Amino acid sequence: MQKEREIPKKKPKVPIGLPVVVCPDCYKPMELLGKVDVDKEERTLFKKRTRSVPHIEFRCPDCGMEWKESLERRGGGCFIATATFGTPMAHEVNILRRFRDVFLLQNRTGEMFVRAYYKLSPPIARTIEKSEMLRRFVRILLTPIVKLFNLIYGKH
Ligand SMILES: [Zn+2]
Repeated sequence: MQKEREIPKKKPKVPIGLPVVVCPDCYKPMELLGKVDVDKEERTLFKKRTRSVPHIEFRCPDCGMEWKESLERRGGGCFIATATFGTPMAHEVNILRRFRDVFLLQNRTGEMFVRAYYKLSPPIARTIEKSEMLRRFVRILLTPIVKLFNLIYGKH
């Protein structure tokens, strides 16, 4: 008879912001191998395109199974930040996006906030986009947050 699989009671300790991946075979927390980019095919309405998506690679210390976990939880950008700072590629927007992934999406309250944000922000963003005064105001509001998270998560 097969012996009962042991599921670890304690959550393994991992650096903040990193997903915990447990081996589907052995229920052991997998060890971190590093970051890789994975090409993903994406279908837009009319065409297919390939995009490289950053993933963290894990390996099970017991059976050697490998696993890639996407660092990208939600596709799109930060509507308000994009409207405020310009292009979605702006450094500030990337920092805020990282804040969303490594901090907000790690707990339920944060997740609820993000969900509400994605519902509410497109109309707000459209308003901000149109007014230079509003843009300046939101930029002043967001800048200290961006600076703080740049210090924490900015280096890659
Ligand atoms: Zn395993």
